[in-house]
Formats: sequence, structure tokens, C-alpha cells
Amino acid sequence: LFITLEGGEGVGKSTQLRLLRDALQSQGHKVLATREPGGSPGAEDLRQLLLFGKNPLSLRAEILTHFAARFDHVDKVIRPALAEGRIVLCDRFTDSTMAYQGYGRAEGDPAILDLIAVLQNQLGLTPDMTFLLQAPRDVTRHRLAVRGVPTDRYEQADEGFHARIAAGFRAIAEQQTERVQSITTANCSEEAVNSLIMKEILSRLSHV
Ligand code: C5P
Repeated sequence: LFITLEGGEGVGKSTQLRLLRDALQSQGHKVLATREPGGSPGAEDLRQLLLFGKNPLSLRAEILTHFAARFDHVDKVIRPALAEGRIVLCDRFTDSTMAYQGYGRAEGDPAILDLIAVLQNQLGLTPDMTFLLQAPRDVTRHRLAVRGVPTDRYEQADEGFHARIAAGFRAIAEQQTERVQSITTANCSEEAVNSLIMKEILSRLSHV
């Protein structure tokens, strides 16, 4: 079972990933928790380039680099783990490329959305379940401020960019209702969000 967590900065993806991993492991499941960009040694090298490289890449170069990292991660880490029967939990996946590069940076340019769709198709791996975590920007901005100084180039981007990303994620959720479930984390405790997601995963597991 391949499960991804998606959403903008500060919505609680990494916290939920950790809680889910612990909860599933304590029930005896074999779990792999991983993240993107990164997740394999080669992809972690590319993450450094993408997030902290001193020279920003052109849009298509950035998309191809995200996918280069993703192919390595999928080929070397995710597929082998799925083949061993593990539940794979991944913090961000292709929906982030669609939202950040497709809707955020390219502002929904159809040629760019097509490029991403083609690469996604080539990858040949779609999550079984995706949880899209959402919270209003004032809430996430506050969480990020508490967490510390913004570090990578995307966390420093302007508000219009963040609004386009949020709209992009909403569009993806509307297009893929079978796979993507939206969850708001604004007024819920971490534990409440975790129980909600666990309930969905356990119900899915009981049907496979
Ligand atoms: O999940 P995390 O916040 O660690 O993601 C790292 C950074 O990569 C974020 O700032 C996110 O905005 C950025 N990112 C991106 N495009 C992607 C995936 C992540 O710009 N496709």
C-alpha cells in the first residue's frame, strides 16, 4: 500500500507522517516512512541542489530534476519496499510537483501541466491513497514562524505563489476524488488528524 501526504508548508505533513508510522508499526505493520524531494542517497543530493543550490533552475529544468530525484527514489527505495509488503508512507510526491511547479510557478500553463503528466505516466506508480492536508495561510504562516526562520527558497516565496499552490492542490483533489482525501488541520489536534487518517487506512487495509 502506497500512501502519500500532500499540502503546502506548515500544514502538518511531517508530524502526521511520524504519527502514522508509529501507529501502524505498533499494530504490527511493516512500514517505510520516506519523503520528497529526496528519500534515496542520489535523490537527497538532488534535494540539496533544488532547495539550496546557489543558481535557480529554469522551470523545465526544475521539473526534470524533481522527477530525476523521484525516479531514483521510486526505483531504489519505494518499489523494493512495496515488493517486500511494506506500507510506504511518503511526505510529498507527484502532486507537489503539479501544485508547486505546475500551478505555482507555471501558473497552470497547460504545456507545463502536460509535461508533468507525461513524466508522472512514465513513472508508472500512483499512490493508492493521498491525504491532502490543508490549513488557512494565516495558520500555516504562524506555524512556520514558530518553527524558525524560513530556510529554503520556496518558504521565502511571495504570497501569490502560496495561494496558487493551495488552489492547485484543491484542483488536484477535485480531479482525483477516488485517490485524494482533503483534511483540514487548522482547528484539530495532531491526534485527531492522526485518528482520522488511521481510520481511513485501516478501512482500506481491511478491503485488500
Ligand atoms: O516538505 P518540505 O517542506 O520539506 O519540502 C521542501 C521544500 O521543497 C518546500 O519548501 C517545498 O515548497 C519545496 N518543493 C517544491 N516543489 C516540489 C516539492 C517540494 O518546490 N515539487
